[in-house]
Amino acid sequence: MNFELTKQQLELQEMVKDFVAKEVAPGVAARDEAESYEETYKIMKKMGKLGLWGLPYPKEYGGAGGNQVDYCLAGIEINKVDASLGCSYSVHISLAGWPIFHYGNEEQRQKYAVPMFKGELLGSFALTEPNAGSDSGASECTAVLKGDEYILNGPKIFNTNGGYSDVNVVFAMTDPSKGVKGISAFIVEKDAPGYNIIKTERKMGIRSTQQAAVQMEDVRVPKANLLGKEGEGFKIAMTTLDGGRIGIAAQGAGIAEGAYEYALQYAKQRVQFGKPISTQQWVAFTLAEMATKVEVAKAMTMRAACIKDAGQSYSVAAAMAKMVATDIAMENTTDAVQILGGHGFLRDHPVERMMRDAKITQIYEGTNQIQKLVISGAILR
Ligand SMILES: Cc1cc2nc3c(=O)[nH]c(=O)nc-3n(C[C@H](O)[C@H](O)[C@H](O)COP(=O)(O)OP(=O)(O)OC[C@H]3O[C@@H](n4cnc5c(N)ncnc54)[C@H](O)[C@@H]3O)c2cc1C
Repeated sequence: MNFELTKQQLELQEMVKDFVAKEVAPGVAARDEAESYEETYKIMKKMGKLGLWGLPYPKEYGGAGGNQVDYCLAGIEINKVDASLGCSYSVHISLAGWPIFHYGNEEQRQKYAVPMFKGELLGSFALTEPNAGSDSGASECTAVLKGDEYILNGPKIFNTNGGYSDVNVVFAMTDPSKGVKGISAFIVEKDAPGYNIIKTERKMGIRSTQQAAVQMEDVRVPKANLLGKEGEGFKIAMTTLDGGRIGIAAQGAGIAEGAYEYALQYAKQRVQFGKPISTQQWVAFTLAEMATKVEVAKAMTMRAACIKDAGQSYSVAAAMAKMVATDIAMENTTDAVQILGGHGFLRDHPVERMMRDAKITQIYEGTNQIQKLVISGAILR
């Protein structure tokens, strides 16, 4: 067992840290206040030019030739400062890029995955519907084959990057009589007529990402854009989310570390009763717990990443990492606000934003209750 990062990984970490300090940290609070994805999108585009959109994908497909550990290292650095950017990035890499790369045929890989990894086309993942959230197999969207095209109809909600994404991985029922085995996955291009963005959501946190509600009305998708085989959609969605959860674990670890580091500096400087509050036992012990939890979150995240990189089954490891790291994100951000006292409640400090941002990590890509279903299902099998 080796806990050391390679020279290349340390260099990558430094490069992302530097990028975050120069391009992400300035204006992070203003972007949150603006509740708009526009500025975040500009930063995403810069990340694309740096090769980060294809970080864990092979060079021959336009990627950077890295792996899941690299992706998590980058994710942690980004999410320490800006979880909105982290969310958009992780959806592109894990939820849109991966299923196209993994299940796509060579033509689909060349047409979509390569430009996605080169930073030219942004991706999204449209699974959730008004009546199909945790129960994502209850899809009411339909896809009917007519000649050489599928005709897609129905609503999708919470579509991250929606409205900006060029390539959307969309799930719909091709055969409702077969239940989840009747779901198929499609690659739908941004400008497909009938793929209508009807609303963008207003949110508690990650306010500088965009989540769109989509109403599909007779969207014509070429048969060539069926991803995998007909009826494989649910499997594609579930395996995609298995990997996505490693990215969300990195997001949780990053948020947890960002909040800890801010609270630590604050506690050393804030003087009450004639001495820094860090000398008060509750503050010192809380910081000790926060520091330990950051290591737990990172260790669980990297464990899941290593298991995936080793080509082993990672579903349970990813669920465990996602659940633990995101609960820690919530705990550390809440404790950070408490350490800053009333000042922590103000928008003058980033910890109130971090606390709002942390909440979503316990919810998306399968709530942490759903992670317990995945884990208990495996251990009680
Ligand atoms: C900001 C944001 C971004 C998102 N991005 C995307 C995206 O890009 N693409 C996409 O497809 N979706 C996306 N989602 C959707 C997200 O994945 C779902 O919101 C999530 O899976 C939960 O579904 P739901 O909201 O319908 O909650 P529900 O399924 O209605 O769950 C409500 C509550 O019931 C609990 N519950 C439900 N079933 C069970 C069960 N069997 N056992 C125990 N508890 C249960 C849940 O844990 C939860 O606490 C996003 C959501 C948000 C808010």
